[in-house]
Amino acid sequence: MPRRWIMHVDMDAFFASIEQRDHPEWRGKPVIVGGLSARGVVSTASYEARAFGIHSAMPMSRARTLCPAGIYVRPRFELYRSVSDEIHRIMLHYAAEIEPISLDEAFMDITGMGTQYPTLGAIGRAIKGEIREKTGLVASAGIAPNKFLAKMASDMDKPDGLTIIPYGREAAILAPLPLRRLWGVGSVTEGKLLAAGFRTIGDIQRAAPGTVEAAVGRLADHLRRLSFGIDDRPVQAERAVKSIGDEETYETDLTDPAAIRRRIAIHSDTVASRLRRRHLTARTVSLKIRFASFRTVMRSVSFEEGTNLQEDIEAAALSLLEKIPRTEAVRLTGVTCSNLAEEVETISLFPDRKDALRRAARAVDAIQARYGKDAIRKGFYMEEEKS
Ligand SMILES: [Mg+2]
Repeated sequence: MPRRWIMHVDMDAFFASIEQRDHPEWRGKPVIVGGLSARGVVSTASYEARAFGIHSAMPMSRARTLCPAGIYVRPRFELYRSVSDEIHRIMLHYAAEIEPISLDEAFMDITGMGTQYPTLGAIGRAIKGEIREKTGLVASAGIAPNKFLAKMASDMDKPDGLTIIPYGREAAILAPLPLRRLWGVGSVTEGKLLAAGFRTIGDIQRAAPGTVEAAVGRLADHLRRLSFGIDDRPVQAERAVKSIGDEETYETDLTDPAAIRRRIAIHSDTVASRLRRRHLTARTVSLKIRFASFRTVMRSVSFEEGTNLQEDIEAAALSLLEKIPRTEAVRLTGVTCSNLAEEVETISLFPDRKDALRRAARAVDAIQARYGKDAIRKGFYMEEEKS
């Protein structure tokens, strides 16, 4: 059995970095994302804003006092979610399973990747590099024998960090750290431990038998294991699919409107066939366009009834494309379907055009399942090959 290695990826100032990416005039400036109402709180502050003492969860009114000249923006969660999905897809190039824990953080098990990369650092740099290349955003990463230590490591050298905690160093690295760093220690448990005279994680490591139990009861065993850096939790992938998407970053930016529409037709076809394979329909179609400057626009439309037909998805995506002013070349296009539901077989008394499309789609699926994707292709694929 090879030694287990876990990597934790944590995007740096995620929401604020996306806003700075999409608004080049905000780069290098204090950007504060959060609720703008009187009772709003800060979601994320850019590193420039952190220099003023602003941090997440701070009341917005306090932030405005600390930095009156800051740029205050409302969050665009839909876009952040799509960037998050994009980062997860990149991570899946390197691991069979990933475990997202929030929009900007995820674990992956990279055990066994050593055969493709000379060092753990090379794996980390490859993943960080691909994230930066494809999304224009900076990640910090931690690599360690388990999830607890990997998450701690990713936080040690932010921003743009890459920290490795090797086997054998776990206890020594943890010893000087405060109790709060132990997973599961909140203010209540911390208070009990402090009252019993414990100050650091090292104090737990060295505790006389029974003393941790006397302070925190049954939690003691868990804390003692963690204090030595022992954590066997596996990386657990999320099972339920919430959205299905297809997107592509181009080697050469697209400028021809016909080529952009053709790419959208291809994304729509890919997404539709994935939906049908899982017997799902979607009620929401989203279109993503990233321009050469990395500015990213996302638009969505929802239907009354779910669909898994390429024609419906393409029509929706093209109508969204119409609404996006194209002022520069296009670096990435993507189509995502969400609001998913199980497909329900319907037998219509009066077969219409939709029924014909459904039958045709199933016939294509059957041929492709048997003879491969290239056995039958729609017209827009041919045009794409010619161009
Ligand atoms: Mg983060």
